[in-house]
Amino acid sequence: MVEPAALAEVARTTPVADRSDVLVVGGGPAGVSAAVAAARSGAEVTLVERYPYLGGLASGGMVLVLDDMVNGEEITTTGLVGELIERLEKLGLAVSPPPEDRRVGWDVWRTWARWGCNDFRARGRPQPIVYAVAFDPDGWKRVSGDVIVESRVKLRLHSWFAEPIVEDGRMRGAIVETKSGRQALLSDIVVDATGDLDVASRAGAPHVTGAYMVTTVFRLGNVDTEAALRFEHEQPAAFAALDREAKHLLGGAWDMWWLKTPLSGVVWCNCPHMTGYDAVRVEDMTAAELEGRRRIAALVAFARAELPGFARCYLLDVAPQLGVRQTRLLQGEYVVTRQDVLERRHFPDTVCRGRDYYTPYRALLPRRIDQLLVAGRHYSADPQAQKVSREIPPCMVQGQAAGIAAALALSAGIRVRDVDPAAIQRAMRAQGADPGDVPSANAVSASAVP
Ligand SMILES: Cc1cc2nc3c(=O)[nH]c(=O)nc-3n(C[C@H](O)[C@H](O)[C@H](O)COP(=O)(O)OP(=O)(O)OC[C@H]3O[C@@H](n4cnc5c(N)ncnc54)[C@H](O)[C@@H]3O)c2cc1C
Repeated sequence: MVEPAALAEVARTTPVADRSDVLVVGGGPAGVSAAVAAARSGAEVTLVERYPYLGGLASGGMVLVLDDMVNGEEITTTGLVGELIERLEKLGLAVSPPPEDRRVGWDVWRTWARWGCNDFRARGRPQPIVYAVAFDPDGWKRVSGDVIVESRVKLRLHSWFAEPIVEDGRMRGAIVETKSGRQALLSDIVVDATGDLDVASRAGAPHVTGAYMVTTVFRLGNVDTEAALRFEHEQPAAFAALDREAKHLLGGAWDMWWLKTPLSGVVWCNCPHMTGYDAVRVEDMTAAELEGRRRIAALVAFARAELPGFARCYLLDVAPQLGVRQTRLLQGEYVVTRQDVLERRHFPDTVCRGRDYYTPYRALLPRRIDQLLVAGRHYSADPQAQKVSREIPPCMVQGQAAGIAAALALSAGIRVRDVDPAAIQRAMRAQGADPGDVPSANAVSASAVP
């Protein structure tokens, strides 16, 4: 008998487990921001997340530096991201250079480069030290949970988005898979913050499939960072040779493959870089997890044997979530291009900003489907543009704008695509976020909204 290539599933009845104004799918940086912003704007909000914690790549992915936050001396990504940083600082779980250290100089380079607080886009050495924040992943989970609870968002963890509920081209909620079976979560508006466009793509929104390297991020414990830094600075030639070998074993890494964290003796390793994997394909993700662990084991053995400061180190943990930078990208009402980002193009409907670039409201709006918003790394951008505009802080600002837009649509009784961007800008400011409506001196004006 020939096995069929596909099976028809049996139609079933799914219990309605929840009803809200706004359903946010995905509890990463963008989703937490969207949920809190919508709730603080008066909407009843439900947030679903597949894992048992909030934070997405910032916690489960162990991406532990908030960067791309400044345009010169101006801090451009503000609002909820700033609030989470303040909460982490109060817990002693966030570290950033003080204003007097944000400059060019070997002294500040030696202090701050291994915290990931250098402007990694600048040419030459030493690169300027800028405002960036190294933080702790469990701290991020905790403060994300705190703002969600305080904002009275209905949180449903352990719930894996399975199907969108769409009626006549309009979102009505989503179906999730849980330990107790499938559940329907009904809502007037849905925000897709899954990072991989799970909701919008299955609802039929036009999108493209991009790709970028993936990473099994890991942390090492019991590292004598002072000894490691002394060796690096006092014996640069010997350091360079060993560092090359470490990167060779990793099979690809940024310039600094280990960085300090707020926990003494614990370093995070934003590596290895692994290419050729499709990060929404189970076979590829499985292979990447195994390959990443193989490379990490080789690196740890080498580090213990050869690297000053690492003799007694151990593998503390490998991030529970595979580090996925890019998969599906929305092709929304406007598709942000690499030129838009690099030329700092400013749009009349700008509602959020990254370091020195601007994001129009149209880049959060899918075509064809109503009452759906998208926020985070899968926003409407071409693959090259997304690579340079996907950091955690701008994803959070996008989330805040999307949450506010959803609440504005509800209170006015209109479709999300009809919300006036000027109203979003005003509400963003009222919530302490800079929507980027006033361009900086180095921005370039785009033509009016078509
Ligand atoms: C290895 C690596 C290094 C990086 N380095 C940096 C850096 O140094 N600094 C920086 O600022 N940024 C960095 N980034 C980028 C940044 O981490 C991401 O772009 C950012 O976290 C995106 O936020 P998000 O909320 O859009 O998506 P995510 O963080 O991916 O969050 C999506 C959330 O949705 C949930 N979800 C997904 N699918 C479903 C589903 N079907 N059902 C329910 N829940 C679901 C996920 O579990 C997750 O919680 C890095 C990324 C990677 C991978």
